[in-house]
Amino acid sequence: MNLHEYQAKELMARHGVQIPLGYPATSVEEAKTAIEKLFNEGHKRVVIKSQIHAGGRGKGTFKDGFQGGVHLADSINDATAKAESMFGNILVTKQTGEEGKQVNRLLITSAEEIKSEYYVAVLLDRAKGRPIIMASAEGGMNIEEVAKESPEKIFKETIDPDLGLQPYQGRKIAIALGLRGRLIGQCGKLLQCLYETWAECDASMVEVNPMALIENEEGAESVVALDAKMSIDSNAMFRHPDIQAMRDLSEEDPLEVEAGKFDLNYIKLDGNIACLVNGAGLAMSTMDAIKHYGGEPANFLDVGGGASQEQVKAAFEIILSDPAVKAILINIFGGIMNCNTIAEGVVAAAKETDLKLPLIVRLEGNNVEAGRVTLAESGISLITASSLAEAAQKSVEAAK
Ligand code: ADP
Ligand code: MG
Repeated sequence: MNLHEYQAKELMARHGVQIPLGYPATSVEEAKTAIEKLFNEGHKRVVIKSQIHAGGRGKGTFKDGFQGGVHLADSINDATAKAESMFGNILVTKQTGEEGKQVNRLLITSAEEIKSEYYVAVLLDRAKGRPIIMASAEGGMNIEEVAKESPEKIFKETIDPDLGLQPYQGRKIAIALGLRGRLIGQCGKLLQCLYETWAECDASMVEVNPMALIENEEGAESVVALDAKMSIDSNAMFRHPDIQAMRDLSEEDPLEVEAGKFDLNYIKLDGNIACLVNGAGLAMSTMDAIKHYGGEPANFLDVGGGASQEQVKAAFEIILSDPAVKAILINIFGGIMNCNTIAEGVVAAAKETDLKLPLIVRLEGNNVEAGRVTLAESGISLITASSLAEAAQKSVEAAK
């Protein structure tokens, strides 16, 4: 599950990471209150930041031509006008795709005097089986590009999960980033707090881009997190009801949200052959077979080992609500699953939805005879196949 910047910052702040003062807003009214609050507290400039689940906001463009999803403002009127331009508007960035994302929330935060920007992230190194912290002095840049063109500019420290990020490791990274004097200790501490956020929230990734060296009005320097990105391991969500409450369903694919309600593993893809399969491995083989015969799957859908008729029906409805779908391939291997349950679910769903699309079915295993009878006697028109290869081939033809 992904979080908004302001939510990630809140979690980081709870673990001791320094962040600029800021308030989230879900309406122009709330934004105005936050803006006035910051100016009244003595801040001379504020930043208005679009909150969407995608990066590259600063360099993004709104669909109505308004440039930039992150704006500095030096008066209450200026800030309010910018907040008004962003609310409800659709922001297109390198990460949103052409369709963009609607801005329904803003973060109003104090503007800092930036002296340098850095990149830091904590994630899991699957090869090492350990968390790592990654940092670069090329902050604000696209980190994938830095990794490709000048990998020597990225510093990594492997973390022992029993010990956490050690103080010397934090200082080592701070020095590698070019920080000196008192700032080495301060940055090291921030990195330790960032690691603790990652570990205690069961995050799969936390990223601060930029972490910035800033200067206050008295000329004192410090290191703070100016941007924050965080994703939480969904399998650990039951341990974090407070983080669960931060979920923003409007940022997620509506079909995937619907599938989640029925415990179906559904991921929408770009093709036109819908798949309904039991078991993740079989679902992947089915997609491979479709591609092998020149087709494109419209989705990944695993109904699980012991799906009920109700789940099959829900799966069917989800598949059909994707207008790109031109054919449906059902591939079931009945191990725990009873083939007749699937067959009954399919018949019920096909009748209820008045299905017109070609339906290709391959059933095998537990109670398959009863399943075949149910399908044959149902009166719905379908294309049967006895092997995965045949089923895939027939689906590709049918989708044409
Ligand atoms: P994104 O990565 O989505 O473009 P950021 O939060 O990184 O969004 O903002 C883009 C840029 O805006 C940052 O690299 C930084 O230079 C500037 N910026 C962001 N927040 C602040 C702030 N509080 N004060 C001053 N500048 C900021
Ligand atoms: Mg950023």
